[in-house]
Amino acid sequence: MRIRVLGSAAGGGFPQWNCGCPNCRGLRAGTIRAKARRQESVAVSADGRSWLLLNASPEIREQIESFPGLHPQAPRHSPISGIVLTNGDLDHTLGLLSLRESYPLTVFATDRVRRGFTEENVFYRTLERFTDQVTWRPLKLGREEDLATGLTLEAVPVPGKPPIHLEGSFAPDAEDNVGVRIRETRSGTVLAYFSGVGGVSPAVAQALADATAVFFDGTFWSEDELPALGVGDKRARDMAHAPLGGPHGSLAALGTLSASRRILIHINNTNPLLREDSAERAHVTARGWEVAYDGMEVSL
Ligand SMILES: [Zn+2]
Repeated sequence: MRIRVLGSAAGGGFPQWNCGCPNCRGLRAGTIRAKARRQESVAVSADGRSWLLLNASPEIREQIESFPGLHPQAPRHSPISGIVLTNGDLDHTLGLLSLRESYPLTVFATDRVRRGFTEENVFYRTLERFTDQVTWRPLKLGREEDLATGLTLEAVPVPGKPPIHLEGSFAPDAEDNVGVRIRETRSGTVLAYFSGVGGVSPAVAQALADATAVFFDGTFWSEDELPALGVGDKRARDMAHAPLGGPHGSLAALGTLSASRRILIHINNTNPLLREDSAERAHVTARGWEVAYDGMEVSL
């Protein structure tokens, strides 16, 4: 299995257009050791010819261009065989609207996420220009589905919430937010991809336990990261992201994992992990965790 990181940042990217936090300022000024990052999206393939995209970020056009594996092989063609939406957040779904140039798409999402994107959304009409422009494939929790591309896909419920723009419209539901397990049928290799985790539930812990590689929510280091920097009043868990650090953080809750690669992704621009010489980076590195960066490739 080949995994290519197209974007490793949380919503807003790094730097974020309206952010003057120390990380974003330092990156622009070239005074910190850190790399710019696009918003989270990852491509996965068993054969190197057809690719499954995990999430469709607002930067999808540049992300496709950044990786030759996703370039067309014919006058009208795309190696993207499907797109998985792990929740309805705009940083995970907005890119779909940019893929409007009359080409059939297959999108895997829970019923809740599909409804949140398609209902009462006038812009969705751009993906209804011809019959079957988008084929929605329902993600049913706990059901492993053969994608016929050498991969299987299984969605796992993860503590989360509806996207901000649907808060109040939809009551919270177990299908709001999922992680996925992707298994290569030939080798049995399993990728566990959990980029938005509001808490390490027993289902999350079980889904990671036997994975060959784990991608995990690295959004925030601490619960009060945004208020402490004066860039917001929400705490990490208010945004359905368990912070990594501290005795009650997700790293402590995960304990030891058997995965040969353990990689943090969906990193918010305020997170001290982004600074390559920070104490927090040294802390996770010493525990066998890597920090995803754009262009990172993993072969399992
Ligand atoms: Zn910032």
